[in-house]
Amino acid sequence: MTSSLQNKVAIVTGGASGIGLECARQLVENGATVYVLDRDHQALEAARAALGKHLHTIEVDLFRYETVDRAIETILSEQDHIDILHANAGAYIGGNIWEGDPDAWDKMLNLNINAAFRSARAVMPAMMKQKSGDIVLTSSIAGIVPIPAEPIYTASKHAVQAFAHTIRRQLAPFGIRVGAIQPGPVVTPLLNDWDPERLKANIEAGAMMQPADVAEALVFMLTRRKGTVVRDLVLLPHSFDV
Ligand code: NAD
Repeated sequence: MTSSLQNKVAIVTGGASGIGLECARQLVENGATVYVLDRDHQALEAARAALGKHLHTIEVDLFRYETVDRAIETILSEQDHIDILHANAGAYIGGNIWEGDPDAWDKMLNLNINAAFRSARAVMPAMMKQKSGDIVLTSSIAGIVPIPAEPIYTASKHAVQAFAHTIRRQLAPFGIRVGAIQPGPVVTPLLNDWDPERLKANIEAGAMMQPADVAEALVFMLTRRKGTVVRDLVLLPHSFDV
């Protein structure tokens, strides 16, 4: 197999489940060596068993700077380059902000934007030194369209968008490309809190995507020729309306 991802070293955060797991799978299939950073021990074991020797796993709590930095140091002790960071880990809490978990804001911002910042910041020195690299952030359609039923999630993903657009300009002189994917709803454990009837109805109506759809978008972004960048990639189920 020849692919432009052959011999690339990639990191996928939140890669033990859902979108990240499928992205890790497709990166491996395209020839990359993939490090999955996630905090779910059991899911990491399962991913490693399923995806073979080109998948490495590091148990990391992305809430904590020092563990993220340590994970990147570990990767650089095993590899002499890091080509791809897919900053994908995220959580979802919907609903009215005057009810429910009072810490929802902190929890969601801490993962959705802070973890993206932490992992991106940690890989930058290596990518700047090698004068190449790709950073792709998993945003959401809620990153570009305010979803009234999801105020905190919308705010967190708008922050992801702003971060992606600003570092894209800052890192371009170093040969590092930065892009963001904005998926609509995808069937993953992230939506476990959804009412099952709503989920079923949405799937039947063709208003949900599968993780593989997002993974294909990621591979598309990463395989553009050097000198071009897919800045944003909005990916929606055909009959989804925003
Ligand atoms: P998921 O719940 O299936 O996977 C999230 C992964 O992140 C899990 O493996 C979990 O263990 C890991 N994680 C959570 N907190 C962590 C922490 N503190 N440290 C380390 N790992 C942690 O979710 P998903 O649907 O695959 O979501 C992936 C990304 O896609 C998120 O950024 C999400 O916002 C985004 N997204 C999802 C959808 C959707 O409908 N599923 C739509 C648009 C965007």
